[in-house]
Amino acid sequence: MSKFLPLTHYNEPLAGGYRLLPFNFTPLDAADYVATTSVGEFVVLDRATLERFARHQLLPNDPFYNLLKAKHFFLDDDSSVALDLLTDEMLEFCKQHQVLISTSLDGAAELHNKNRPRPGRDSNARAIAGIQLAREKLGHDRVSAVMTTTSASLSLGREIIDEYVRQGFDGIFLRPLSPYGFAVKTKSYNAYDRHEWLRFFVDGLDYILELNRRGTRFIEQYSATILTKMLTPRNPGYVDLQSPAGIGIGVLVYNYDGDVYASDEGRMLAEMGHKNFRLGNVHTNTYEDILLSDQLLEPLEQSFTGSVPMCSECAFEPFCGAEPVYHYATQRDYVGRKAESDFCQRNMGIFRHLIGLMRADDEIEHIFRSWVFR
Ligand code: SF4
Repeated sequence: MSKFLPLTHYNEPLAGGYRLLPFNFTPLDAADYVATTSVGEFVVLDRATLERFARHQLLPNDPFYNLLKAKHFFLDDDSSVALDLLTDEMLEFCKQHQVLISTSLDGAAELHNKNRPRPGRDSNARAIAGIQLAREKLGHDRVSAVMTTTSASLSLGREIIDEYVRQGFDGIFLRPLSPYGFAVKTKSYNAYDRHEWLRFFVDGLDYILELNRRGTRFIEQYSATILTKMLTPRNPGYVDLQSPAGIGIGVLVYNYDGDVYASDEGRMLAEMGHKNFRLGNVHTNTYEDILLSDQLLEPLEQSFTGSVPMCSECAFEPFCGAEPVYHYATQRDYVGRKAESDFCQRNMGIFRHLIGLMRADDEIEHIFRSWVFR
């Protein structure tokens, strides 16, 4: 006799209840679990709530009901989200309103499926099918992808880049894990240090330069952003590399419940219990309330790089940024001690490397200039 209930049990809604969508859960500590969906949403639940939810006993007045519904953990009678999540109707809406789509692609099938487990082990195939469908309906250049560097990615940089070339992308953003949300809850943020990540970045950039030399035009997007600041008077407007910080000024994030955040990282931080970057709510605040809130003005004022220790004397300050959300997440301070900041040390490493490459090799400088003056 199996200790599992038959699959039909999970597919059938209970009277007036909801139907579970595929999700995984894993213990976070003695009391709590992290539950994740196939689309990468996550939520932290105590054991009793998780059990009530899995047994179809969560009632609509439970504080977790709407949260789990919004994050695609289940469907109920008035859910309008389809199971495959990307419908023709959604794509038609995106076309009409010129919405750009950004999705996650961590690399070739084995790595992507390992990073993003789901029943059927087909998350890579689904991502590729979704990218192709969106390109067909919206146009090739309306769809982009971002990758997440897990510890499993570190030795596979060249294979990841090959996969992006194979899927028809003209660049990749080699980015480290962020100290927010799922990466922190699952402790994967500490799976590697900044030295290991920098080695991954340097080797990936070497390979991308090799591709360019062989005639494949392909860019590393973070380098291209920094090089635009180094080689032109233009500001690419990248939120993390702005002073005053780009939060709130360059981006506003509207959450499903009407809350407005200064950036997506600020929204993720709120999921971890720190609502410092919640600027207001569209139902109760005006635009002026939100943009003039102390929650925004205080971190902007405090973190201005021209006046904070280390940055004010740093040769790289014109290319760098303030990033108060990162420093609050890691040091509980909008400014942070830069000597202990991975954001600072990582950027210094990249600035030095890019300048060193250009000084050592005219051909590389020529390639870099072609990335900037596109
Ligand atoms: S590299 Fe470090 S010290 Fe220099 S501006 Fe950036 S954060 Fe500040």
